[in-house]
Amino acid sequence: MLNKKSVEDLAVKGKKVLVRCDFNVPLQDGVITDENRIVAALPTIQKLIKDGAKVILCSHMGKPKGEPKPELSLAPVAKRLSEKLGKEVVFAKDDTVVGENAKKAVSEMKDGDVVLLENTRYRKEETKNEDNFSQELASLAEVFVNDAFGSSHRAHCSTVGVTKYVKESAVGYLMDKEINFLGNAVNNPERPFVAILGGSKVSDKINVINNLLEKVDTLIIGGGMAYTFAVAQGGKVGNSLLEADKVEYAKEMMKKAEEKGVKFLIPVDTVITKEFKNDTEFKTVPTKEIPDEWQGLDIGEKSRELFADAIKNAKTVVWNGPMGVFEFANFAKGTEAVAEALANIDATTIIGGGDSAAAVNQLGYGSKMTHISTGGGASLEFLEGKELPGVVAVDDK
Ligand code: AMP
Repeated sequence: MLNKKSVEDLAVKGKKVLVRCDFNVPLQDGVITDENRIVAALPTIQKLIKDGAKVILCSHMGKPKGEPKPELSLAPVAKRLSEKLGKEVVFAKDDTVVGENAKKAVSEMKDGDVVLLENTRYRKEETKNEDNFSQELASLAEVFVNDAFGSSHRAHCSTVGVTKYVKESAVGYLMDKEINFLGNAVNNPERPFVAILGGSKVSDKINVINNLLEKVDTLIIGGGMAYTFAVAQGGKVGNSLLEADKVEYAKEMMKKAEEKGVKFLIPVDTVITKEFKNDTEFKTVPTKEIPDEWQGLDIGEKSRELFADAIKNAKTVVWNGPMGVFEFANFAKGTEAVAEALANIDATTIIGGGDSAAAVNQLGYGSKMTHISTGGGASLEFLEGKELPGVVAVDDK
Protein backbone atom coordinates (compact mmCIF):
# COMPACT_ATOMS: atom_id res chain seq x y z
CA MET A 1 0.00 0.00 0.00
CA LEU A 2 1.10 3.48 -0.83
CA ASN A 3 1.91 5.46 2.29
CA LYS A 4 0.99 8.81 0.75
CA LYS A 5 -1.89 11.13 1.39
CA SER A 6 -4.64 10.51 -1.17
CA VAL A 7 -7.56 12.58 -2.50
CA GLU A 8 -9.71 10.61 -0.08
CA ASP A 9 -7.83 12.21 2.84
CA LEU A 10 -8.45 15.81 1.76
CA ALA A 11 -11.12 18.31 2.83
CA VAL A 12 -11.33 20.48 -0.26
CA LYS A 13 -14.68 22.28 -0.10
CA GLY A 14 -14.19 25.84 -1.36
CA LYS A 15 -10.45 25.33 -1.79
CA LYS A 16 -8.42 25.78 -4.95
CA VAL A 17 -6.84 22.46 -5.85
CA LEU A 18 -4.15 22.22 -8.53
CA VAL A 19 -4.16 18.78 -10.15
CA ARG A 20 -1.24 17.57 -12.26
CA CYS A 21 -2.68 15.22 -14.86
CA ASP A 22 -1.01 13.39 -17.71
CA PHE A 23 -2.90 14.74 -20.71
CA ASN A 24 0.00 14.02 -23.05
CA VAL A 25 -2.28 12.38 -25.61
CA PRO A 26 -1.43 11.63 -29.26
CA LEU A 27 -2.71 14.31 -31.65
CA GLN A 28 -3.08 14.17 -35.41
CA ASP A 29 -3.86 17.50 -37.09
CA GLY A 30 -5.24 18.83 -33.83
CA VAL A 31 -7.48 15.79 -33.25
CA ILE A 32 -6.97 13.50 -30.24
CA THR A 33 -6.44 9.96 -31.57
CA ASP A 34 -6.32 8.13 -28.22
CA GLU A 35 -8.24 9.51 -25.25
CA ASN A 36 -7.24 6.85 -22.71
CA ARG A 37 -5.21 9.23 -20.60
CA ILE A 38 -8.10 11.69 -20.43
CA VAL A 39 -10.54 8.97 -19.41
CA ALA A 40 -8.07 7.68 -16.81
CA ALA A 41 -7.91 11.14 -15.19
CA LEU A 42 -11.69 11.49 -14.74
CA PRO A 43 -12.23 9.77 -11.34
CA THR A 44 -10.00 12.23 -9.46
CA ILE A 45 -11.45 15.26 -11.23
CA GLN A 46 -15.02 14.08 -10.64
CA LYS A 47 -14.33 13.44 -6.97
CA LEU A 48 -12.92 16.95 -6.49
CA ILE A 49 -15.87 18.54 -8.33
CA LYS A 50 -18.30 16.56 -6.18
CA ASP A 51 -16.50 17.68 -3.03
CA GLY A 52 -16.84 21.34 -4.05
CA ALA A 53 -13.22 22.15 -4.87
CA LYS A 54 -12.16 24.69 -7.45
CA VAL A 55 -10.32 22.33 -9.75
CA ILE A 56 -7.32 23.72 -11.63
CA LEU A 57 -5.78 21.18 -14.00
CA CYS A 58 -2.33 21.23 -15.51
CA SER A 59 -0.30 18.94 -17.76
CA HIS A 60 2.42 18.89 -20.37
CA MET A 61 1.89 17.89 -23.98
CA GLY A 62 4.76 16.74 -26.19
CA LYS A 63 8.06 18.58 -26.23
CA PRO A 64 7.64 22.29 -27.03
CA LYS A 65 11.10 22.84 -25.48
CA GLY A 66 10.24 25.82 -23.33
CA GLU A 67 8.33 27.95 -25.80
CA PRO A 68 4.71 28.27 -26.91
CA LYS A 69 3.96 25.98 -29.85
CA PRO A 70 0.31 26.26 -30.96
CA GLU A 71 0.27 22.68 -32.27
CA LEU A 72 1.07 21.48 -28.74
CA SER A 73 -1.60 23.55 -27.00
CA LEU A 74 -3.86 21.75 -24.54
CA ALA A 75 -6.95 23.46 -26.06
CA PRO A 76 -8.19 20.22 -27.72
CA VAL A 77 -7.90 18.46 -24.35
CA ALA A 78 -10.11 21.09 -22.65
CA LYS A 79 -12.77 20.47 -25.28
CA ARG A 80 -12.67 16.67 -24.99
CA LEU A 81 -12.58 16.86 -21.22
CA SER A 82 -15.68 19.10 -21.19
CA GLU A 83 -17.51 16.45 -23.23
CA LYS A 84 -16.40 13.67 -20.91
CA LEU A 85 -17.29 15.54 -17.71
CA GLY A 86 -20.51 16.94 -19.10
CA LYS A 87 -19.56 20.38 -17.84
CA GLU A 88 -17.55 23.34 -19.02
CA VAL A 89 -13.79 23.21 -18.67
CA VAL A 90 -12.47 26.75 -18.99
CA PHE A 91 -9.24 26.74 -20.98
CA ALA A 92 -6.85 29.34 -19.59
CA LYS A 93 -5.05 30.15 -22.83
CA ASP A 94 -1.81 31.67 -21.68
CA ASP A 95 1.62 31.47 -23.30
CA THR A 96 3.28 31.85 -19.91
CA VAL A 97 0.96 29.21 -18.37
CA VAL A 98 0.46 31.22 -15.15
CA GLY A 99 -0.03 34.64 -16.75
CA GLU A 100 -2.83 37.21 -16.56
CA ASN A 101 -5.38 35.01 -18.35
CA ALA A 102 -4.78 32.05 -16.06
CA LYS A 103 -4.95 34.21 -12.93
CA LYS A 104 -8.16 35.83 -14.12
CA ALA A 105 -9.77 32.47 -14.96
CA VAL A 106 -8.86 31.14 -11.52
CA SER A 107 -10.09 34.25 -9.70
CA GLU A 108 -13.51 33.85 -11.34
CA MET A 109 -13.94 30.20 -10.31
CA LYS A 110 -16.84 29.01 -8.19
CA ASP A 111 -16.88 25.80 -6.17
CA GLY A 112 -16.98 22.79 -8.51
CA ASP A 113 -15.64 24.75 -11.52
CA VAL A 114 -12.82 23.39 -13.65
CA VAL A 115 -10.01 25.34 -15.35
CA LEU A 116 -7.27 23.81 -17.50
CA LEU A 117 -3.95 25.65 -17.75
CA GLU A 118 -1.83 25.71 -20.92
CA ASN A 119 0.97 23.18 -21.61
CA THR A 120 3.43 23.41 -18.69
CA ARG A 121 6.35 22.79 -21.03
CA TYR A 122 5.70 26.13 -22.74
CA ARG A 123 7.90 27.29 -19.85
CA LYS A 124 11.57 26.43 -20.04
CA GLU A 125 11.82 26.22 -16.25
CA GLU A 126 9.39 23.28 -16.14
CA THR A 127 11.78 20.48 -17.07
CA LYS A 128 14.57 22.02 -14.97
CA ASN A 129 12.39 22.05 -11.85
CA GLU A 130 13.24 25.73 -11.28
CA ASP A 131 11.74 27.37 -8.23
CA ASN A 132 10.18 30.42 -9.89
CA PHE A 133 7.76 28.42 -12.05
CA SER A 134 7.02 26.00 -9.19
CA GLN A 135 6.09 29.02 -7.05
CA GLU A 136 3.91 30.47 -9.79
CA LEU A 137 2.01 27.21 -10.14
CA ALA A 138 1.63 26.87 -6.38
CA SER A 139 0.40 30.47 -6.07
CA LEU A 140 -2.83 29.44 -7.84
CA ALA A 141 -3.89 26.89 -5.22
CA GLU A 142 -3.79 25.76 -1.61
CA VAL A 143 -3.69 22.06 -2.33
CA PHE A 144 -1.79 20.04 -4.95
CA VAL A 145 -2.82 16.62 -6.23
CA ASN A 146 -0.48 14.59 -8.40
CA ASP A 147 -2.40 12.18 -10.62
CA ALA A 148 0.12 12.14 -13.48
CA PHE A 149 1.69 8.71 -13.10
CA GLY A 150 3.08 8.88 -16.64
CA SER A 151 5.07 12.03 -15.81
CA SER A 152 6.14 11.26 -12.26
CA HIS A 153 9.47 9.65 -13.13
CA ARG A 154 10.61 13.18 -13.95
CA ALA A 155 11.37 15.80 -11.29
CA HIS A 156 9.77 18.83 -12.92
CA CYS A 157 8.11 21.95 -11.50
CA SER A 158 4.61 20.55 -12.00
CA THR A 159 5.39 17.12 -10.55
CA VAL A 160 7.90 17.85 -7.78
CA GLY A 161 8.82 21.54 -7.31
CA VAL A 162 5.27 22.71 -6.74
CA THR A 163 4.84 20.46 -3.67
CA LYS A 164 7.31 22.65 -1.76
CA TYR A 165 5.08 25.71 -2.01
CA VAL A 166 1.57 24.42 -1.36
CA LYS A 167 0.03 23.80 2.07
CA GLU A 168 -0.91 20.23 1.36
CA SER A 169 -0.32 17.58 -1.32
CA ALA A 170 -1.79 14.19 -2.18
CA VAL A 171 -1.88 11.57 -4.92
CA GLY A 172 -4.94 11.05 -7.12
CA TYR A 173 -6.86 7.86 -7.82
CA LEU A 174 -4.99 7.04 -11.03
CA MET A 175 -1.60 7.35 -9.37
CA ASP A 176 -2.78 5.20 -6.50
CA LYS A 177 -4.14 2.56 -8.87
CA GLU A 178 -1.03 2.46 -11.07
CA ILE A 179 1.30 2.08 -8.14
CA ASN A 180 -0.79 -0.53 -6.42
CA PHE A 181 -1.14 -2.67 -9.55
CA LEU A 182 2.49 -2.40 -10.61
CA GLY A 183 3.77 -2.61 -7.05
CA ASN A 184 1.75 -5.70 -6.19
CA ALA A 185 2.65 -7.41 -9.43
CA VAL A 186 6.34 -6.89 -8.89
CA ASN A 187 6.68 -7.21 -5.14
CA ASN A 188 3.90 -9.54 -4.18
CA PRO A 189 3.03 -11.54 -7.31
CA GLU A 190 0.85 -14.58 -7.48
CA ARG A 191 3.12 -17.21 -9.09
CA PRO A 192 4.14 -18.27 -11.65
CA PHE A 193 5.20 -14.70 -12.46
CA VAL A 194 6.25 -14.07 -16.07
CA ALA A 195 7.71 -10.84 -17.46
CA ILE A 196 7.88 -10.14 -21.20
CA LEU A 197 10.20 -7.43 -22.43
CA GLY A 198 10.53 -6.16 -25.97
CA GLY A 199 11.35 -2.99 -27.87
CA SER A 200 14.49 -1.89 -29.55
CA LYS A 201 17.22 -1.43 -27.00
CA VAL A 202 18.85 -3.53 -24.30
CA SER A 203 20.53 -0.40 -22.99
CA ASP A 204 17.13 1.13 -22.10
CA LYS A 205 16.16 -1.91 -20.09
CA ILE A 206 19.39 -2.92 -18.36
CA ASN A 207 18.15 -2.18 -14.86
CA VAL A 208 14.71 -3.58 -15.61
CA ILE A 209 16.16 -6.94 -16.64
CA ASN A 210 18.48 -6.99 -13.64
CA ASN A 211 15.69 -6.16 -11.18
CA LEU A 212 13.09 -8.48 -12.72
CA LEU A 213 15.49 -11.43 -12.56
CA GLU A 214 15.25 -11.10 -8.78
CA LYS A 215 11.47 -11.45 -8.91
CA VAL A 216 10.16 -13.51 -11.83
CA ASP A 217 9.85 -17.22 -12.58
CA THR A 218 10.19 -16.70 -16.34
CA LEU A 219 11.69 -13.83 -18.32
CA ILE A 220 10.87 -13.58 -22.02
CA ILE A 221 12.85 -11.26 -24.27
CA GLY A 222 11.60 -10.35 -27.75
CA GLY A 223 11.86 -7.39 -30.14
CA GLY A 224 15.09 -5.84 -31.35
CA MET A 225 16.77 -6.35 -27.99
CA ALA A 226 16.66 -10.14 -28.37
CA TYR A 227 19.46 -10.17 -30.97
CA THR A 228 22.07 -9.03 -28.47
CA PHE A 229 21.13 -12.07 -26.39
CA ALA A 230 21.21 -14.30 -29.49
CA VAL A 231 24.80 -13.15 -30.13
CA ALA A 232 25.63 -13.76 -26.46
CA GLN A 233 24.48 -17.34 -27.07
CA GLY A 234 26.86 -17.65 -30.04
CA GLY A 235 24.34 -16.82 -32.77
CA LYS A 236 24.75 -14.84 -36.03
CA VAL A 237 22.19 -12.06 -36.47
CA GLY A 238 23.13 -10.45 -39.82
CA ASN A 239 22.03 -6.81 -39.94
CA SER A 240 19.60 -7.10 -37.04
CA LEU A 241 19.70 -4.58 -34.20
CA LEU A 242 22.71 -5.41 -32.06
CA GLU A 243 24.34 -3.61 -29.18
CA ALA A 244 27.80 -5.13 -29.37
CA ASP A 245 28.86 -3.40 -26.15
CA LYS A 246 26.01 -5.11 -24.28
CA VAL A 247 26.85 -8.70 -25.28
CA GLU A 248 28.86 -9.23 -22.10
CA TYR A 249 26.02 -7.84 -20.04
CA ALA A 250 23.60 -10.18 -21.83
CA LYS A 251 25.84 -13.11 -20.89
CA GLU A 252 25.88 -11.98 -17.27
CA MET A 253 22.10 -11.71 -17.20
CA MET A 254 21.68 -15.20 -18.62
CA LYS A 255 24.11 -16.52 -16.00
CA LYS A 256 22.14 -14.73 -13.31
CA ALA A 257 18.91 -16.29 -14.61
CA GLU A 258 20.48 -19.72 -14.41
CA GLU A 259 21.72 -19.15 -10.87
CA LYS A 260 18.32 -17.89 -9.75
CA GLY A 261 16.45 -20.72 -11.47
CA VAL A 262 14.62 -18.26 -13.73
CA LYS A 263 13.51 -19.65 -17.08
CA PHE A 264 14.97 -17.32 -19.71
CA LEU A 265 13.51 -17.33 -23.22
CA ILE A 266 14.51 -15.56 -26.40
CA PRO A 267 12.90 -16.12 -29.81
CA VAL A 268 13.87 -19.39 -31.51
CA ASP A 269 12.90 -18.11 -34.94
CA THR A 270 12.75 -14.71 -36.56
CA VAL A 271 11.03 -13.07 -39.52
CA ILE A 272 13.78 -11.48 -41.60
CA THR A 273 13.99 -9.01 -44.46
CA LYS A 274 16.66 -7.13 -46.37
CA GLU A 275 14.94 -3.77 -46.20
CA PHE A 276 13.41 -1.93 -43.27
CA LYS A 277 9.92 -1.49 -44.73
CA ASN A 278 6.55 -3.23 -44.77
CA ASP A 279 6.23 -4.16 -48.41
CA THR A 280 9.30 -6.24 -49.00
CA GLU A 281 10.34 -9.88 -49.27
CA PHE A 282 10.43 -11.69 -45.92
CA LYS A 283 10.98 -15.19 -44.60
CA THR A 284 11.44 -17.00 -41.30
CA VAL A 285 14.75 -18.50 -40.13
CA PRO A 286 16.23 -19.65 -36.79
CA THR A 287 17.14 -16.57 -34.72
CA LYS A 288 20.78 -17.60 -34.42
CA GLU A 289 21.21 -18.18 -38.16
CA ILE A 290 20.29 -14.87 -39.74
CA PRO A 291 22.27 -14.48 -43.01
CA ASP A 292 24.42 -11.43 -43.73
CA GLU A 293 22.45 -8.52 -45.21
CA TRP A 294 19.19 -9.74 -43.60
CA GLN A 295 17.65 -8.35 -40.45
CA GLY A 296 15.09 -9.67 -38.01
CA LEU A 297 11.95 -7.54 -37.65
CA ASP A 298 9.61 -9.88 -35.78
CA ILE A 299 9.52 -13.11 -33.83
CA GLY A 300 8.61 -16.17 -35.91
CA GLU A 301 5.70 -18.56 -35.55
CA LYS A 302 7.54 -21.08 -33.35
CA SER A 303 8.53 -18.31 -30.96
CA ARG A 304 4.94 -17.07 -30.80
CA GLU A 305 3.91 -20.58 -29.75
CA LEU A 306 6.81 -20.92 -27.35
CA PHE A 307 5.98 -17.62 -25.66
CA ALA A 308 2.22 -18.31 -25.54
CA ASP A 309 3.00 -21.67 -23.96
CA ALA A 310 5.26 -20.06 -21.35
CA ILE A 311 2.48 -17.63 -20.43
CA LYS A 312 -0.31 -20.22 -20.43
CA ASN A 313 -0.11 -21.20 -16.77
CA ALA A 314 1.13 -17.89 -15.41
CA LYS A 315 -0.79 -16.17 -12.63
CA THR A 316 0.90 -12.78 -13.04
CA VAL A 317 2.27 -11.35 -16.29
CA VAL A 318 3.92 -7.98 -16.86
CA TRP A 319 4.55 -6.95 -20.47
CA ASN A 320 6.55 -3.99 -21.73
CA GLY A 321 7.69 -3.47 -25.33
CA PRO A 322 6.68 -4.83 -28.75
CA MET A 323 7.99 -8.14 -30.12
CA GLY A 324 8.84 -6.64 -33.48
CA VAL A 325 8.39 -3.63 -35.73
CA PHE A 326 4.66 -3.69 -35.12
CA GLU A 327 4.21 -0.38 -36.96
CA PHE A 328 4.56 -2.48 -40.17
CA ALA A 329 1.58 -4.87 -40.54
CA ASN A 330 3.79 -7.65 -41.92
CA PHE A 331 5.93 -7.56 -38.78
CA ALA A 332 3.20 -7.05 -36.18
CA LYS A 333 2.20 -10.70 -35.82
CA GLY A 334 4.50 -11.46 -32.89
CA THR A 335 3.23 -8.49 -30.90
CA GLU A 336 -0.35 -9.42 -31.77
CA ALA A 337 0.23 -13.02 -30.72
CA VAL A 338 1.54 -11.96 -27.30
CA ALA A 339 -1.41 -9.59 -26.83
CA GLU A 340 -3.80 -12.40 -27.74
CA ALA A 341 -2.09 -14.90 -25.44
CA LEU A 342 -2.37 -12.45 -22.55
CA ALA A 343 -6.02 -11.75 -23.32
CA ASN A 344 -6.83 -15.46 -23.09
CA ILE A 345 -5.24 -16.46 -19.79
CA ASP A 346 -6.66 -16.45 -16.31
CA ALA A 347 -4.04 -14.26 -14.65
CA THR A 348 -3.29 -10.76 -13.46
CA THR A 349 -2.07 -9.10 -16.65
CA ILE A 350 -0.29 -5.76 -16.48
CA ILE A 351 0.62 -3.87 -19.64
CA GLY A 352 3.43 -1.42 -19.04
CA GLY A 353 2.31 1.50 -21.17
CA GLY A 354 3.77 2.87 -24.41
CA ASP A 355 3.78 0.68 -27.53
CA SER A 356 2.47 -2.49 -25.88
CA ALA A 357 -0.49 -0.60 -24.42
CA ALA A 358 -1.22 0.93 -27.84
CA ALA A 359 -1.01 -2.51 -29.47
CA VAL A 360 -3.37 -4.08 -26.91
CA ASN A 361 -5.91 -1.28 -27.32
CA GLN A 362 -5.70 -1.28 -31.11
CA LEU A 363 -6.40 -5.01 -31.15
CA GLY A 364 -9.43 -4.55 -28.93
CA TYR A 365 -8.01 -6.55 -26.02
CA GLY A 366 -7.99 -3.61 -23.60
CA SER A 367 -10.90 -4.82 -21.49
CA LYS A 368 -9.33 -8.28 -21.15
CA MET A 369 -6.26 -7.00 -19.31
CA THR A 370 -6.18 -6.41 -15.58
CA HIS A 371 -4.36 -3.11 -15.88
CA ILE A 372 -2.98 -1.05 -18.75
CA SER A 373 -0.57 1.52 -17.44
CA THR A 374 -0.83 5.10 -18.70
CA GLY A 375 2.92 5.57 -18.30
CA GLY A 376 5.52 3.87 -20.49
CA GLY A 377 8.70 5.44 -19.08
CA ALA A 378 7.29 5.68 -15.56
CA SER A 379 6.25 2.04 -15.50
CA LEU A 380 9.70 1.00 -16.71
CA GLU A 381 11.38 2.96 -13.93
CA PHE A 382 8.97 1.35 -11.52
CA LEU A 383 9.97 -2.08 -12.85
CA GLU A 384 13.58 -1.09 -12.25
CA GLY A 385 12.68 -0.85 -8.59
CA LYS A 386 13.11 2.94 -8.49
CA GLU A 387 10.95 5.32 -6.53
CA LEU A 388 9.24 7.93 -8.69
CA PRO A 389 10.24 11.49 -7.69
CA GLY A 390 6.70 12.79 -8.31
CA VAL A 391 5.39 10.30 -5.76
CA VAL A 392 8.14 10.74 -3.20
CA ALA A 393 7.48 14.52 -3.14
CA VAL A 394 3.84 14.13 -2.04
CA ASP A 395 2.93 14.40 1.66
CA ASP A 396 3.04 11.18 3.64
CA LYS A 397 -0.17 9.94 5.18
P1 AMP B 1 11.38 1.04 -27.43
O1 AMP B 1 11.33 2.44 -27.93
O2 AMP B 1 12.72 0.57 -27.01
O3 AMP B 1 10.29 0.70 -26.47
O4 AMP B 1 11.07 0.14 -28.69
C1 AMP B 1 9.92 0.28 -29.47
C2 AMP B 1 10.34 0.21 -30.89
O5 AMP B 1 11.11 -0.97 -31.09
C3 AMP B 1 9.18 0.13 -31.85
O6 AMP B 1 9.12 1.31 -32.58
C4 AMP B 1 9.53 -1.07 -32.73
O7 AMP B 1 9.33 -0.81 -34.09
C5 AMP B 1 10.99 -1.29 -32.45
N1 AMP B 1 11.41 -2.68 -32.68
C6 AMP B 1 10.93 -3.78 -32.14
N2 AMP B 1 11.52 -4.88 -32.65
C7 AMP B 1 12.43 -4.44 -33.55
C8 AMP B 1 13.34 -5.10 -34.42
N3 AMP B 1 13.43 -6.42 -34.46
N4 AMP B 1 14.11 -4.32 -35.20
C9 AMP B 1 14.01 -2.98 -35.16
N5 AMP B 1 13.17 -2.30 -34.36
C10 AMP B 1 12.38 -3.04 -33.58
